[in-house]
Amino acid sequence: MTHPELLPRPPSPLVEADDDRFAAHGVRLLLKRDDLVHPELPGNKWRKLAPNLRAALDAGHDRLVTFGGAYSNHLRATAAAGRLLGLATVGIVRGDELAGRPLNDSLARCAADGMRLHFATRSDYRRKAEPRTLRRLLESAGASDAYVVPEGGSNALALRGCAELGRELRGACDVVAVACGTGGTLAGLAAGLDPGQRALGVPVLAGGFLAPEIRSLQHRAFGGPAGDWTLAEGYDHGGYARIPEPLEAFAADFESRHAFPVERIYVAKLLWALTTLTGTGTFPEGTTLTAVITGRP
Ligand SMILES: *Cc1c(COP(=O)(O)O)cnc(C)c1O
Repeated sequence: MTHPELLPRPPSPLVEADDDRFAAHGVRLLLKRDDLVHPELPGNKWRKLAPNLRAALDAGHDRLVTFGGAYSNHLRATAAAGRLLGLATVGIVRGDELAGRPLNDSLARCAADGMRLHFATRSDYRRKAEPRTLRRLLESAGASDAYVVPEGGSNALALRGCAELGRELRGACDVVAVACGTGGTLAGLAAGLDPGQRALGVPVLAGGFLAPEIRSLQHRAFGGPAGDWTLAEGYDHGGYARIPEPLEAFAADFESRHAFPVERIYVAKLLWALTTLTGTGTFPEGTTLTAVITGRP
């Protein structure tokens, strides 16, 4: 039997945003309020975790293990999911130097949701894709028998969950834009869109490594390339979780214009990129552009 928390949910709201910076260029801006898709597991974290949680429960697991940095939204979402479903959760956190220190707000929330935190050395963490290192990490975290969700939650099941987000947007717009960490959400979303619709990803990490990652994720989930997607690089603002003052001011202004809370690590960078790209005439007049609001602060 499906756990009540894991039943399919109605499509998240799609709302028009009245914004002169877009209107001036003939671009219609829509907001896909995926932050409202689930009260406790917002946005793409719900889309990616739900199919994994179903698989874990179906296989009889009572424990989940996953990986993340000290500010990982994915760790927080996994901890909350564990609490909701009554599953034990173990978080393997990058950086054993954190072990003796007070927990930051994000990790404290994980712990409050019942997640057991295990701090790994940076070198073990980096090599966690090697089977031997993984086995050793799981063993020392007491999670050898747990259902393993990869870092950032992006596996084949997660991509198929995100394809549903794309299907919800069929016929609604020309371009769908989303912020990217692992790129799993973009990879799944693109696969769910109609032919003729385009997905645009805005990486929040510097480095330009994402396109091959996305191709490989799509290969594993769908057997090959899926949908039309591109990346807009250059909007990382110095790297993950960096929020320089101009970005902070932009996000606060966007909140006051559109009356919803703007998550800073991903969503603010997406909205900044779209405002800039629109201002420089990237989108032809008459374009309907959807920004996916993947989470909340
Ligand atoms: C995790 C997260 C993302 C990134 O998703 P990926 O699938 O890893 O690219 C985007 N937005 C928010 C709000 C997130 O928490």
